[in-house]
Amino acid sequence: MAELRWCSWHQQHADDAVLVAVAEVGSGPGIMRYACRRCRVVFALVPLEPDDGRDRGDGGCDDSATNEPRHS
Ligand SMILES: [Zn+2]
Repeated sequence: MAELRWCSWHQQHADDAVLVAVAEVGSGPGIMRYACRRCRVVFALVPLEPDDGRDRGDGGCDDSATNEPRHS
């Protein structure tokens, strides 16, 4: 079962959301929030967790390889 996390960008739960660092206001440290894959691409967010699927270990029935080119 995929882990649902709240995507702070499109304001819905997503099973592919990962932690990203957000530098919000000029003062204070960045805020940790979760963003799904789509929002990471749209908003050019940098994940703090690996996103290549090698750390999932959720059964190994991965039939949807996502080898999208990286946005830098
Ligand atoms: Zn999202």
